[in-house]
Amino acid sequence: MTSPGSYNAAIYAAGGALTAVDAVMNRQVNSAFALVRPPGHHATCWQAMGFCLFNNIAIAAKYAMANFDIQRIFIVDFDVHHGNGTQDTFYADPQVLYFSTHEYPFYPGTGSIDETGARDGEGFTVNVPLLAGWGDNEYQAVFEDVLAPVAERFEPQLIMVSAGYDAHWADSLASMQLSVSGFARLVEIIKTLADMLCQGRMVFTLEGGYNLEALSLSIAATLDILRGNRQISDPLGKQESRTKPVNFDNFIKMVKDMHEL
Ligand SMILES: [Zn+2]
Repeated sequence: MTSPGSYNAAIYAAGGALTAVDAVMNRQVNSAFALVRPPGHHATCWQAMGFCLFNNIAIAAKYAMANFDIQRIFIVDFDVHHGNGTQDTFYADPQVLYFSTHEYPFYPGTGSIDETGARDGEGFTVNVPLLAGWGDNEYQAVFEDVLAPVAERFEPQLIMVSAGYDAHWADSLASMQLSVSGFARLVEIIKTLADMLCQGRMVFTLEGGYNLEALSLSIAATLDILRGNRQISDPLGKQESRTKPVNFDNFIKMVKDMHEL
């Protein structure tokens, strides 16, 4: 999936994420969204993978710690795929907490609940693998009941988001049922935490999202929430509502127990 222009595009994508970090850390803006492609979260330190050449968010997190007085970064990854490259980069690093929701089992195969970090980084990786078909209600419950207490305990100085929109119900690459309003709700939860914990400092970078209508509407909704506008537009609507999956409460409890929440 590369072409002669891919290398330059990838360099600019990583650079865009660094520019977003600069803008937020220098207080030019509270939050920034690097609308870049190619995405980054599958790329490891050594290898391009899954449409990703360089790991934009991992490079930007390292850049933030090297250039600003930052010791704790919370990375949220709601792309439908597990961000194996980001996890790998910080697996033994207690300064970066990596939190991922993703369809599971699914590409790239990593992201099981018991991947929680190594050595000094033990406990600083939180994976919430979701079953195909889950949607707005389940994601919201995960963000409120797991992500929020994890973030509060970690007390980040900066929140970074691998914003992929391929968990939208209309995206044919995966099988989750999030709607545009569902994404907006997740962003709202993240923003509330950022306002409470780190003066609203947030850096978003674009990851996946392959239905262009769902992608553009979801990005617009994200920007609306970041600007404090709760009136978002969701003409695609919600997927037919599904009943709460059996054992969902047990699943949440299992994840919380795993991380002593
Ligand atoms: Zn993805």
